Amino acid sequence: MTVIIPKDVYLTTVAACVRFANKRINKDDWLEVSGIFIGRNEGDDVYITKSHPIMHQELDKDAVIDQYKWSDEDYEALSIIDDEAFSNGEFTVGWWHSHPGFKIMMSHIDIKTTLSYQTNNPLAVSLVFNPERLVRQVELPEKKGDPVKQLEGDPGFKIFSLDDVNKGIQASYHTVDYVINGFDTKEQLVALTHKFLIDITNMFPKDNIFGTYEKFVNNRINELNSLIQGTDEYLATLMREGASDRVYEVLENQTRDIRKFVATTFIKIENIKQFMDYLEYKERDTIIPKIKEILSKWDETIEHLNERLTEIAKKY
Ligand SMILES: [Zn+2]
Repeated sequence: MTVIIPKDVYLTTVAACVRFANKRINKDDWLEVSGIFIGRNEGDDVYITKSHPIMHQELDKDAVIDQYKWSDEDYEALSIIDDEAFSNGEFTVGWWHSHPGFKIMMSHIDIKTTLSYQTNNPLAVSLVFNPERLVRQVELPEKKGDPVKQLEGDPGFKIFSLDDVNKGIQASYHTVDYVINGFDTKEQLVALTHKFLIDITNMFPKDNIFGTYEKFVNNRINELNSLIQGTDEYLATLMREGASDRVYEVLENQTRDIRKFVATTFIKIENIKQFMDYLEYKERDTIIPKIKEILSKWDETIEHLNERLTEIAKKY
C-alpha cells in the first residue's frame, strides 16, 4: 500500500498547520489543526487529490494533546465536501492533523478518530504532521532524555493505518509508505518547503488576515506612487539644470524600475490568492470575498499606470 500525494495537497496541509504554529507565535500558543483528504483507491494504493483544512483547536494551556474537537459546523463541512467528492467519483480517503512541536505518533484519541474512517474504508489513512520536525529535520525521542534523531529530506509527517479495526480502540497501528509528487528530490522538497514556510509565516496569519493584506496593498500603492512622483521630480530637475538630453534615458530607466516593482507585486498578490486555498472550509465564504476586495485596490491602481506614465512623458 502506497499513498500518493500531489505537491499542492502537501503544501495545503503544511500551510494550514504552520499558520497556527510558527516562529511568529509563542510556542505555548501553538495550536493543533485538522482536516481531511479526498481521493480514490487504485488497488491497494491511495491517490489523494485534495486536502481540506477543517478546524484548529481552541487555545487551552491546560489541555493535553489532541484537542481537535470538531463542531457541528465542521461536520457539516465534512459532509458537503464528501458529497461534492462523490459527484466526482471520489471520497474521503483519510484525515490529517498536526502535533505542533511534539512527537509524531498516534494517541488513543487519534486511534479512535482513525477507526471512524477506517471502519467505513479499510484503506483510509491518518497523517500526522509536526511543523518543527520539518523545520529542524529531527525526530523527537520516544522518552525524555533520549537523543533526537537527525533526519534528511523529511517532509515532517508520517502516515499511519490501523492493523485490525476489529480490535476497536485497542487496535495497534503501522506506518504506511508514501510518495510526494512534484519535487525532483527529497532535499529539494525540504528546501522549497522551508521557503514556503517563511511566506506562510509572514503572509498567512491566523489573526488579522484582513489587516495584514490591507497593509500590504496600501504599502505597495504608496511605494508605487512615490516611484512615479520620484520620476516626475527627477525629470523636472534635469530640465531645470538644462540636461534635457538625458530625459529620454532617465524616463526609460525609471519606467523599467516601476514595471519591475509592479511585476514583483503581482507575484506576491498571486501568492496571497493561492493562500486562500489553505483556509479552513468554514472560513472561505466570509474571508475570500473580503480579501478579493482588498486586493482589487491594487488592480485599480495599476489600471491607470500607463496613463500616468504617458502623462509624465508628455510633460518633458
Ligand atoms: Zn494526535
